[in-house]
Amino acid sequence: MNKIKPINFLIIFLIGISIFFIIDSKKVIGNLPDASPDPNTEDDIIIIPLSLHLINGSSETYNTNRNEENIIELVRNANIIWDQANILFILEDIDTIEIKGSDINLIFSSGVGILTKRDDFDSGMINGYFMNSLNSNGISFPPQGVFAVADKTTVNDYRTLAHELGHLLGLAHVKERENLMFSGVNGEILSDEEIIFARRNAKRVFNINNFN
Ligand SMILES: [Zn+2]
Repeated sequence: MNKIKPINFLIIFLIGISIFFIIDSKKVIGNLPDASPDPNTEDDIIIIPLSLHLINGSSETYNTNRNEENIIELVRNANIIWDQANILFILEDIDTIEIKGSDINLIFSSGVGILTKRDDFDSGMINGYFMNSLNSNGISFPPQGVFAVADKTTVNDYRTLAHELGHLLGLAHVKERENLMFSGVNGEILSDEEIIFARRNAKRVFNINNFN
């Protein structure tokens, strides 16, 4: 019986390896997803800049006990909620500002004109104000893209922030308790309709850039 020469054995081995890889690569190519994603899907991230202000130099009623670290944590947690809509709020600017108590009172009686005229107001962004006391957990002024959140809230404070941001994106209160836009509980869910509506408003109202 003839022995197979080592060189022939090597050739057979290499042919076998090649066939294996050809078959295997065909299998992989067959499983590749479509090269072009559906252009109608709204899976691009919408980025919305925030300019946040800590109220100080006012009065005990309004001076906030929050610090920058706390605010960063708040925004981070609110973003976890808004991730379901693929909307990301970015903390563009944070400062501590002095506003007289009498001026803050004016906000509640005649709107946020007193705030939007100030030098520390950043137009083109959502402006948020953090103060010790409000008559509610939070308050929002959608036409001007302004909100305020109290130090002590009856629900998770980041949920209050996420809820007020929802109002600024055009969302109204709903009847489902588990929803972010139910008033006064800790629901965090957004419906498909709310997601579409909020994303449209984000693009239209705030003239937002996205990653694409
Ligand atoms: Zn509300």
